[in-house]
Amino acid sequence: MAKIKDIIKENQKTFFSIEITPPDRGKSIQEIYDAIDNLMPYDPQFINVTYHQPFAEFVEENNVIKRIHRSKKPGTIGVCAAIQSKYNVGTVPHIICGGFNKYEIEDALIDLHYIGIDNIFAVRGDPVPGVRKFIPETEGHSYASELVAQISDLNRGKYLDTQENALNTDFCIGVAAYPEKHYESLNLERDLQNLKNKVDKGADYIITQMSFDIEAMKNFVAKAGEIGITVPIIAGIKPVTSMAQIEMIPRAFNVNIPMELINSIESAKTRKEEFANGIKFMEKYVGQLLDFGLPGIHVFTMGKGAPAKALMSSLFGGKI
Ligand SMILES: Cc1cc2nc3c(=O)[nH]c(=O)nc-3n(C[C@H](O)[C@H](O)[C@H](O)COP(=O)(O)OP(=O)(O)OC[C@H]3O[C@@H](n4cnc5c(N)ncnc54)[C@H](O)[C@@H]3O)c2cc1C
Repeated sequence: MAKIKDIIKENQKTFFSIEITPPDRGKSIQEIYDAIDNLMPYDPQFINVTYHQPFAEFVEENNVIKRIHRSKKPGTIGVCAAIQSKYNVGTVPHIICGGFNKYEIEDALIDLHYIGIDNIFAVRGDPVPGVRKFIPETEGHSYASELVAQISDLNRGKYLDTQENALNTDFCIGVAAYPEKHYESLNLERDLQNLKNKVDKGADYIITQMSFDIEAMKNFVAKAGEIGITVPIIAGIKPVTSMAQIEMIPRAFNVNIPMELINSIESAKTRKEEFANGIKFMEKYVGQLLDFGLPGIHVFTMGKGAPAKALMSSLFGGKI
């Protein structure tokens, strides 16, 4: 499958990719296919599949504390392989630092290389539920930049234990960025220096956290350029279609909701109107991003894809 950096470079039209999460444990992959079927007519250039770190939960049962392994959304790599073979579209598994040591990461990279997945999105991961700070595994990575460095090393044939005449991998690496800064970061400038470090370690392109604020996005892109970040920046987009989502987003993703979007959703008299107003706002925002010169948009579907489909339909028109 083509490398994302080449897709971005060679693409002549407005570029569109999507991000999905694996099904909940015990649920069918068909629900993922249904969401993708909704969006395939708009020709997504690639599909990212998120990774969800397992964690331990401690519960008391009959006066005994039991450790329970929770892993709600397993299957990232399997979902990538299944989508790639069913739809013949490139998939990008997210690989995270959390929960893995670097030896386990190397083995996962070798698996991906063997099954022909050579696009990777490298992120650190968040602290597990109930813990305030991100805690790396023993011999794991503390920051995404270290994960990027490990993948770049493998691309040069440098394994953790030196191997004679070792083959190199050829991964194209994407990393995350935050137009309104990462929540742990002291300020945007410091966060951008850390982003530059990921690029210097080998990241080929950037996908941003969702934002709804064109000025914040313009400021972020300009500042990234000023410190020498020259790889493509793709805007993450979350089509917001209800007041409930608007209320959840600042808490879950640490981003601001502009007054224009709040007013537009609040002015709706019905659920249907709320949905339509959200899509209308997003259509305008995406237009502003593309006018500003970003190569394309990456849509977080987080569900069945109906809002994403409505947004695509209003952006690219009657293909369905
Ligand atoms: C597009 C996108 C997709 C995502 N997909 C997933 C997913 O699939 N699974 C998942 O669990 N999470 C995912 N996340 C969430 C991500 O894991 C969290 O936002 C996490 O808190 C930070 O990840 P990062 O890769 O940006 O971390 P990093 O780049 O490591 O940065 C984390 C923080 O540390 C700071 N920092 C970086 N380097 C240093 C240093 N050397 N010294 C001091 N501070 C430093 C940064 O400024 C930042 O504040 C995604 C986020 C985005 C935007």
